[in-house]
Amino acid sequence: MTLLTIHMSSSARWGLYLAVDLGGTNFRVCSVQLNGDTTFNLTFNKVAIPKELMVAKTARELFSFLADQIEEFLRAHHEEHFVETKKQMTGPSSARDPFRLGFTFSFPVNQVGINKGKLIRWTKGFDIPDAIGEDVCGLLQEAIDRLGLPVKVAALVNDTVGTLMARAYTSTEGSQPILGAIFGTGTNGAYLEKLSKIRKPLDGTYDKSTGEMVINTEWGSFDNQLNVLPTTRWDAALDESTVNRGVQKFEKRVSGMFLGEIVRLATLDMMKDESVSLFRDANSSFNDWKSTTNVSPQSGLLKPWGLDSSIMSVAAADNTPELSTLRQELESALDIFAPSLEDAQSFKAVANAVGRRAARLSAVAIAAIVLQSGKLDGPDKEVVDIGVDGSLVEHYPFFRDMIYEALKAIDGIGPEGAERIRIGIAKDGSGVGAALIALVAAKMESETDFEYKAKAETSWFE
Ligand code: ADP
Ligand code: MG
Repeated sequence: MTLLTIHMSSSARWGLYLAVDLGGTNFRVCSVQLNGDTTFNLTFNKVAIPKELMVAKTARELFSFLADQIEEFLRAHHEEHFVETKKQMTGPSSARDPFRLGFTFSFPVNQVGINKGKLIRWTKGFDIPDAIGEDVCGLLQEAIDRLGLPVKVAALVNDTVGTLMARAYTSTEGSQPILGAIFGTGTNGAYLEKLSKIRKPLDGTYDKSTGEMVINTEWGSFDNQLNVLPTTRWDAALDESTVNRGVQKFEKRVSGMFLGEIVRLATLDMMKDESVSLFRDANSSFNDWKSTTNVSPQSGLLKPWGLDSSIMSVAAADNTPELSTLRQELESALDIFAPSLEDAQSFKAVANAVGRRAARLSAVAIAAIVLQSGKLDGPDKEVVDIGVDGSLVEHYPFFRDMIYEALKAIDGIGPEGAERIRIGIAKDGSGVGAALIALVAAKMESETDFEYKAKAETSWFE
């Protein structure tokens, strides 16, 4: 079987690496101790990215914020090491050994080196025009240098690739993943492809010896022309209200940033319909709690992007006859007071429809890669392993079950194929993956006996 292999010489520098992850909603800073035996120890800090920085006037503002978070993290968790390394930075260059950092930057990038890549376009609500075409590692390194931090941006990583790497590193059962996929703020996947199948011209020099390459599909922008994607008027209205109108159409039907807004738009339309009477009671006898429902003027339901997808998980999880958890959540998260059972049932039905469509579309993307890999055609009935990460797939109840249900119905996969596909969470995948790639980059810096490639092997680490 062909496997991704990190082949290390005895001097492999397993150890402490930094990883930062700009995913869309949060910025995570972590340090990862890679033990080299499929295990790791991870410390992390997570902050929500301030909304105004997503549309900052200059890239410098956003990247300065990121560098500030890195400094805070180092002072909080690695003070001693931080001070010592900082001292070295003023000494002779041969004695300097900065923290190596893997930068997970999950936006479309034209990657031209292990720590170099130019931003193609922003997605997921970001819009900072002067960053387009710039090397994002350079931008981060400049911000780090402005603070005088002993940190070297060693590797640029897409979260999908990080997830694929992390899944492979932590796998103990022999079978290696064919796909790393994200279902978080946005959605995307990276997979292993045979070089012979790649038709896009590739610039630069790269290692061809393995005959394989990891491809970042950027499937979030699949079918922007809407030839096959299902579309409702709420999808169209949502697209109109985004800063990246007309693109990422697949992502806008599948991922966490958008699902809540689709639910909100559909729910609002129902509320406007006189014949429906959603979140509205003629009098208290129409409400099973003998009250009248009140939607606060401050409710997120009434504000663009005011409904977080996480309430969809609450709706999906609540299967009690009274839907009391969901009704409580409608009050606390959306300021909808005394919703009736019928209100909650209607909300749940809308949310489930949007969530189920997202899961079934996710299955389409996964199935495409499985079919492309040809792994189901082989005579041996091996497991086809897939690593996934992101709050949606991790927290939305039955998301994976709904993916499996759809996989069974897809031509070329069917119930037998679906049974062989294993979709597993690669928790903290992007952090661990970025640390692994930073380790690879550190080895490339200094040694020639390093080999990082996909090749025929029976185990990942030797
Ligand atoms: P990132 O994309 O920044 O790496 P996450 O993977 O945590 O971050 O995804 C954040 C997105 O997931 C947000 O859009 C949020 O609305 C959504 N989300 C968070 N929790 C849930 C949940 N329980 N159910 C559904 N969506 C969720
Ligand atoms: Mg993420």
